[in-house]
Amino acid sequence: MRSQHVAIPLPRTIQLLEYVHTPPRPVVDDDTRASFTVVLARDHHRCAYCGDAGATTVDHVYPRSRGGGDNYGNLVAACADCNGRKADRTPEEADMPLLWVPRAPRTDHKRQHAIWRELTLSN
Ligand SMILES: [Zn+2]
Repeated sequence: MRSQHVAIPLPRTIQLLEYVHTPPRPVVDDDTRASFTVVLARDHHRCAYCGDAGATTVDHVYPRSRGGGDNYGNLVAACADCNGRKADRTPEEADMPLLWVPRAPRTDHKRQHAIWRELTLSN
């Protein structure tokens, strides 16, 4: 580093002053058992069949009565009308195509936000 009157050589190595242990985070994937609240939030309360806002129910894409799981890859937000109309059928059988493919919610942005907050607080 160099200023008008002083030059300070930069160190060639850095020293680890404190080790912050970060526990391994649980893997959340499409097969993970889902929380209905998280599914509604993931889909921004939009119905996966008609796209309307304000969806309050969660639909099993592959019907639960036929072995469809309570996992993120099989659950979508749905309005009560679409959920009732689809009933115990697949989207193909009901001729109600999904507007998007359900996936496990991404947690990266939340974690990144926590990291930025931590960095801001420590400076
Ligand atoms: Zn709908």
